Amino acid sequence: MSDDAIQVSGVVKRYGAATAVDNVSFNVAQGEFVSLLGPSGCGKTTTLRMIAGFAEPTAGTFRVNDRDVTRLPPEKRELGFVFQNYALWPHMTVAENVGFGLKLRKKSRAFIADKIAESLFVTGLSGYEDRLPRQLSGGQQQRVALARALALEPQVLLMDEPLSNLDRALRVTMRRELKELQARMKMTTLYVTHDQEEALSLSNRVVIMNKGRVEQIAAPYELYENPATSFVADFVGITNFLEGSAVGVDGGSMGVRLRSGQVLRAAAKTAVTPGAEVRALIRPERVTLTTTPIEGENILAGQLILSEYFGAVLRYSVRLDGGEILRAEVHNFDSFVETGAKVWICVLPQHLRVISQEGQG
Ligand code: ATP
Repeated sequence: MSDDAIQVSGVVKRYGAATAVDNVSFNVAQGEFVSLLGPSGCGKTTTLRMIAGFAEPTAGTFRVNDRDVTRLPPEKRELGFVFQNYALWPHMTVAENVGFGLKLRKKSRAFIADKIAESLFVTGLSGYEDRLPRQLSGGQQQRVALARALALEPQVLLMDEPLSNLDRALRVTMRRELKELQARMKMTTLYVTHDQEEALSLSNRVVIMNKGRVEQIAAPYELYENPATSFVADFVGITNFLEGSAVGVDGGSMGVRLRSGQVLRAAAKTAVTPGAEVRALIRPERVTLTTTPIEGENILAGQLILSEYFGAVLRYSVRLDGGEILRAEVHNFDSFVETGAKVWICVLPQHLRVISQEGQG
């Protein structure tokens, strides 16, 4: 017996000689919100379509609520889904589209009317009941597809980029509403997206995929703070990589000897062996930048080669004395620094992570 709502085990999908999904395994617990996140072509949609039953795996199994559904047709899998190609029935009104599944399930007229009203309300479509799909924008159609899935109150919901056609403001609002709704209905959700902000803000855990494989499965905070590989560090947020070799430093923690010979200390212990080629990983928003000379541990000197103003944030590019370029992000507007200035950057040891060049840290 398992408490998991979805279990994906050793799933492979080949198209001819190409492997789209390469031995992928993960689980989604009851009531959990899990995202599949990765760049275009990494196999997210293919994985989701196989779970839904719209594509057959070359190898591997799927279980939904502890039942092997690998060979079952989609309608027998007891899943709700919202896909990118949100085909609505063109001859039906919005209300008819949303209520159709409930009608098939022989629910009462009053119950159906209630559910239609509720689903349209949460998707911001109240008032659109009598429109036909062709009288709606792409984003509105996408919301009808979402409302249609929600009306059925599925225990397990699969979604493939359901907010991708919405403009930014609406996407952010819908994202919050979706999260709120999911938590309220305790709906197990597996969500495909290439948008890291969406994945981090919505999910209990995120499965990061790259080239058909799983790179890391972790809670958003863990992914950001402790990326397992350079790929994850780069894909989730912005990061600086400084190359060097690992050195043991006092107290058993790890240091990185940069190409310039300077050693930076990291607070956390890692599995990297001294002498190994490594990358020091530094998030731009975790550094402090000053124009006053400072000395001491983990101070990097350099020259500002670019200052960019983004409203809420200032972004600096610094050429370090060792030659590397380091990006820094600053929220303190009293200290706008002009290009060309000599600057000093401090990276606290707890903000520096050491990762082996092959990937695993
Ligand atoms: P996107 O975010 O662009 O939708 P994705 O991560 O969802 O990307 P998939 O659509 O799962 O990626 O595709 C994974 C790989 O499998 C891609 O290289 C794609 O070209 C390939 N692929 C997908 N469907 C087929 C198919 N029916 N026939 C052949 N190759 C396919």
